[in-house]
Parts: sequence; structure tokens; C-alpha cells
Amino acid sequence: MSLAPGSTIGIIGGGQLGRMLAMAAARLGYRTVVLEPEADCPAAQVANRQIVAAYDDPAALAELAGASAVVTYEFENVPVQAAQTLAAHVPVYPPARALEVAQDRLTEKNFLNGIGVLTAEFCPVDTDDHLSAALKKFSGSGVLKTRRMGYDGKGQRVFRNMETGGFAGICEAMGNVPLILESLVAFEREISVIAARGQDGSVAAYDPAENIHREGILRTSTLPAAIAPDTASAAKQAAAKILAALDYVGVIGVEFFVLADGSLLANELAPRVHNSGHWTEAACIVSQFEQHIRAIAGLPLGSPARHSDCVMENLIGDDMLKVPALLAEPGVMLHLYGKAESRPGRKMGHFTRIERRR
Ligand code: AMP
Repeated sequence: MSLAPGSTIGIIGGGQLGRMLAMAAARLGYRTVVLEPEADCPAAQVANRQIVAAYDDPAALAELAGASAVVTYEFENVPVQAAQTLAAHVPVYPPARALEVAQDRLTEKNFLNGIGVLTAEFCPVDTDDHLSAALKKFSGSGVLKTRRMGYDGKGQRVFRNMETGGFAGICEAMGNVPLILESLVAFEREISVIAARGQDGSVAAYDPAENIHREGILRTSTLPAAIAPDTASAAKQAAAKILAALDYVGVIGVEFFVLADGSLLANELAPRVHNSGHWTEAACIVSQFEQHIRAIAGLPLGSPARHSDCVMENLIGDDMLKVPALLAEPGVMLHLYGKAESRPGRKMGHFTRIERRR
């Protein structure tokens, strides 16, 4: 059953993704309530109401469940227990299982390989000895990552030609937390697919974006990606497989490495709207944000077709100085997140430059 106009959607997390979800919800006639410990967060500035409390605060979760017809989230580190508690009272989309899978890189890789979506080779690492053995297996190179709570390249260390020795203290330096070593992938490019699954099981996948990261942070997403049509279809098919296997409702972001022969290795899942899908608000009739709201509200999914080629660029820290010039440029859609203080590495906004109408 679809949500009636005027119903309230609960959003866990108050960052820019929550803000854009709240804006899309408002345009479809819904109200929003945001659960976020930081007062006056980017999402709360455009939502109807904020519950200022921790994501796992039992009283706040009860209040959110009571106020919402459906609950969603804007980040993947929502405590699984909180999502499960809420789900006993109100529909929660995407399902808590998606959080479980995406929160641990080892669980995520096992899940992906289990459904036939290939990833880089990997080994769990809990001690310096495990690391030494794993690096030997991968001929001395690899990317060591924390299994949990990593984002924007944080909690990662790259090894090249480290077959012997020098491992002492590395696990401690990584915080003595469970780790995973992935083989170092010599990828040609990185792409991501933003796809949605509705409550009726229908799937809509946007064309893959080609992504450039710097210092682990997404800088640009370019449409179309410079990949063969077969590679683009394979990426969309993999996303559809993941959505079906998780019995998913909502938007997911799936990042892939593209190898020289055009084959794909999945890198990461984001069970939410994704930074590399921001271009959809400027170059598609139905953005990833509206698509997510449609899915969780039980509305039919919209077309993921792109009317224009484009490049989305993040505005990080001092990039805000570019704003006056961007405002003067025709064909640029600017989106600022309402964050008062600009800090190095902080995502302040983004813009999408329309390159060519299709
Ligand atoms: P992640 O946090 O897993 O998305 O990694 C951040 C970035 O590090 C990716 O977008 C890649 O550019 C790079 N990276 C991550 N894992 C690997 C890998 N196994 N091989 C090569 N590069 C990687």
C-alpha cells in the first residue's frame, strides 16, 4: 500500500543525504522527522521536525516509530539493533539485513561472492602474523582496511612490495580492530551504479557514473562513464542481483572497479542514496532521492533515464570559494548543504554541470 500524502517519513541521520531525502519527500507531499544528535543539522533545516538524540536512544526510537509511517536512514552505520527495534513497530526500509551486510567488509565480501558478484580477493586479518601471511599470498601488495566504520578512505593502508618483515605494530596502529586485507586491484577506472527496488520487486538502475576519488573522497562523477555497453549492463545486473538477494526496498549505491578487459569487481555497497548519484538531480527527471522516497512510500519507481550528460563535482572545504563563479555559469546546478563551518575534507555542497543534452 502506498503512503498517503501528508504522511510522515522518519529519517535516521541528519547529514546532507538526509537533507536531500527530506526535500524530495516534501516535493511528493510528505512530512519528515529526523533523528540526529546534532541540533540544527543539514537535514533538520529542511525537515518538519528533529528529534535531537543518539541513534540508539530507546526513548527517541520509540518517539520516531510513533511519529513515522515508515522509517529510512541516510548512513550505513545506523546501529542494526536500532533498525530491528524500530522494525517491530513501523516498516524500516532498506531492511536491517542490508545494514548488517554493509557494515562489515568481510560480511559484505562473503555476501557478494556468495551471490556470484565478484570482488577483490581478501583475507581477514586480526594479528600482525595474519597480515604477514596474507601479504605473502598477495605477492606483497594489498589494501588493509578496518572491517567496520570505514568511510572516505579512512582506516586504510596500502602496501606495495612488502613480502617480508616490517609488520610489527601495524594492527595496533590500525586501532587493534578486526581488519581485512584486499588484493591491490590494478583497475582502469572506478564506476558506481545507483539502483532502486520498489516494494513490488521492480528495479530501476541509473547508468553507471565514472568516479574520481582524491585522498579517499569522491571528487567527480561523470556521465557517461567511458566503458563498453556490456560493462554498463553487467554493473546494472550485479546491482539488481544484490537488491533481490537482500529483498531490498529503496536506493542502493554499488561501487565497482573496472579492469582492463572490461570485467568488474564490486568494491563496496552503500545501503542508501549515494554521493556518486547526486548527478541524477540535475540530469534525470526522477533523482535518486525521489526514487528512494517513491520506493519506501510504496509508489511506482520513476524512470532512471538521463536527459543530459553531465559531471558532478563535490565542493570540499575551501572549494566553497568557487561558489560565486559557479552561480554565474549557465548549465550548472548548485546544491549547498547548509553547513555553517567549512573545514578541510568536509563536504559542503556539490554542483552538476550539464555537458550536453542527449
Ligand atoms: P573504499 O573505502 O573501499 O571505497 O576505498 C576508497 C578508495 O580506495 C577506492 O575508491 C579506491 O580508489 C581505493 N581502493 C580501495 N580498495 C582497493 C583495492 N582493493 N585495490 C585498489 N584500490 C583500492
